[in-house]
Amino acid sequence: MIPQTQQVDTPQDWQIALSNVIKDPKVLLNQLGLEGKLDAISPEALKTFPLRVPQSYINKMRYGDINDPLLRQVFPLIDESYEVEGFVADPVGDHLAISSPGILQKYHGRALLITTGACAIHCRYCFRRHFPYSESNPLASQWLQSLQTLRDDKSINEVILSGGDPLVLGDKKLASMVKDLEKIPHLKRLRIHTRLPIVLPERINKSLLAWISSTRFQVIMVVHANHANEIDESVAKVLMALRDSGCQLLNQAVLLKGINDNSESLVALSERLSDVNVMPYYLHLLDPVIGASHFDVSNQRGIDLINDIREYLPGYLVPRLVREQQGEASKTPIS
Ligand SMILES: *Cc1c(COP(=O)(O)O)cnc(C)c1O
Ligand code: SF4
Repeated sequence: MIPQTQQVDTPQDWQIALSNVIKDPKVLLNQLGLEGKLDAISPEALKTFPLRVPQSYINKMRYGDINDPLLRQVFPLIDESYEVEGFVADPVGDHLAISSPGILQKYHGRALLITTGACAIHCRYCFRRHFPYSESNPLASQWLQSLQTLRDDKSINEVILSGGDPLVLGDKKLASMVKDLEKIPHLKRLRIHTRLPIVLPERINKSLLAWISSTRFQVIMVVHANHANEIDESVAKVLMALRDSGCQLLNQAVLLKGINDNSESLVALSERLSDVNVMPYYLHLLDPVIGASHFDVSNQRGIDLINDIREYLPGYLVPRLVREQQGEASKTPIS
């Protein structure tokens, strides 16, 4: 008999790394020798969407370079407080697509589950930066309702775990969610949209790999890296481990001014992804969310860049340039 004492799990390495993410801009800038750049920060932007960056991600930034492509992704520049016409709080119509609390369905056959509002990192260009996550965090009762919604709609054959970042949830919770989903016979595929293998590789541990390799679902993991420098050896290692667990790996990136909006960076990203067995999937044009206008790259510039990189890469390493347009039945191809 197992005694009925309360078992408190000891936090795992990744949970410690997650609770130690850097939230203080002074600490971030000091580590990079950029103490003098504090006044480049927007205090208002910090209040509405705080700084959040894992230590291992900071370790991949270049010392002393305010324009480092990784730093730029997390740095709340003063530009965020400018109001720009056409940049809105919910650019992709997520509020309208909530079919039951915690479920977003815009496209045929696949339903997206908002599993948590939390992320390990705060990407300044994130289209969900103003999304009322707390209202859509599934409580236990909402989970039952979400399962019912999925059971009732036989046209759905793929569930996408999203958020926030679904992998900030613990493995017990995730494994039990997947068990519930497995009981719905018309579901075939489980897709996981996550940035954690890139920004907190510690997360990919034995217990995660165990539930991934034991599920009846075909598992597709869509990671999110925008620049080759994000994929160092520790990231490469966990991507290999995921592949070995039977996961198909895809990458989605966002085309971001000052970060990857040149053909050299895009070619290097695709090559690096290929080295670690990840196929480029989407290159998204920026969703026009308030506070992110300084990252915007025009459709035409995006098309030109894709045409450029086609000359340097095999076709399968050229990502699909897309934009998300409200009310459309899929992402809209641009090139
Ligand atoms: C982007 C998105 C998907 C996935 O679209 P794919 O083209 O299948 O990658 C699914 N649901 C929602 C709500 C989305 O925004
Ligand atoms: S990890 Fe994804 S959801 Fe989270 S802040 Fe970055 S872009 Fe947004």
